[in-house]
Amino acid sequence: MEIVARRLDAVLPGETIESALAPGINALKTFDPPLHALEGRSFTGVRRRGKLLLLELGDLVLLTHLMSAGRLQLHPKRASLRDRTSRLLLRLPGDRELRVREFGTKQAAWVKVLRAGEVDADDSLASLGPEAWPDPPPLRELLDAPRPLHTLLRDQQVVTGIGRTWVDEILNVARLSPFKRGDDLSDEEAEALRAAMVSELGRVIDVYEEQVDIPLPEKFPKPTRVHAHQGEPCPQCGTVLEAVFYEDYVMSYCPRDQTEGRVLKDRRLSRLLK
Ligand SMILES: [Zn+2]
Repeated sequence: MEIVARRLDAVLPGETIESALAPGINALKTFDPPLHALEGRSFTGVRRRGKLLLLELGDLVLLTHLMSAGRLQLHPKRASLRDRTSRLLLRLPGDRELRVREFGTKQAAWVKVLRAGEVDADDSLASLGPEAWPDPPPLRELLDAPRPLHTLLRDQQVVTGIGRTWVDEILNVARLSPFKRGDDLSDEEAEALRAAMVSELGRVIDVYEEQVDIPLPEKFPKPTRVHAHQGEPCPQCGTVLEAVFYEDYVMSYCPRDQTEGRVLKDRRLSRLLK
């Protein structure tokens, strides 16, 4: 979302919305102000908070969470209204269109039209923890809970901006077990984890900076070295990476750097440790 916000913030300010539509299954979660209140307004800025995107239009804000299958793109041509993946269409001058689409069967992506003064109090933002990047607070106190790091770091209410892909990269660089408890971190480990968080998320954003441009891709590059790379050498030490398989995702780690040589393959075992 960081790169989406940066790219859109570079091109949208000053652009006026000609019309706004939320076709098909309604992803629009608010009704006051109405969607058409956006029509005739100009973008004033675009920014990110956690995994949410805030499109600012003076005293109104369009807040959106694309969830896992949503995509936001600035297309040079308008979409056919029969495109069933369309969730929100913002028509701009010159036949261009800012389009939220969602792929797959889950209808999870959403948008809200809010008054600027109401944004911070909206549930989706008010519950978020501090940003993981670029300057997270000290982690010793923040993660002081009897929960494994792998779940704690992905909990957006604890710290926001890390998903299941980058948590594997971060823990590998910090050389910490995904099952280590947050309240079991030493000062040194907490500092190493914070440094890994900043450097790994920064590395990813650098790749996006180089490779991602308007109209914004449907699929973003995934510059991973650990996540889903089980069977390949660890980028830190060369040991073969292992993985724990969950129902809908995989957690990859280096047994030498992170789990004192232990290989945790069995799903039932991992569930016990979770
Ligand atoms: Zn390793």
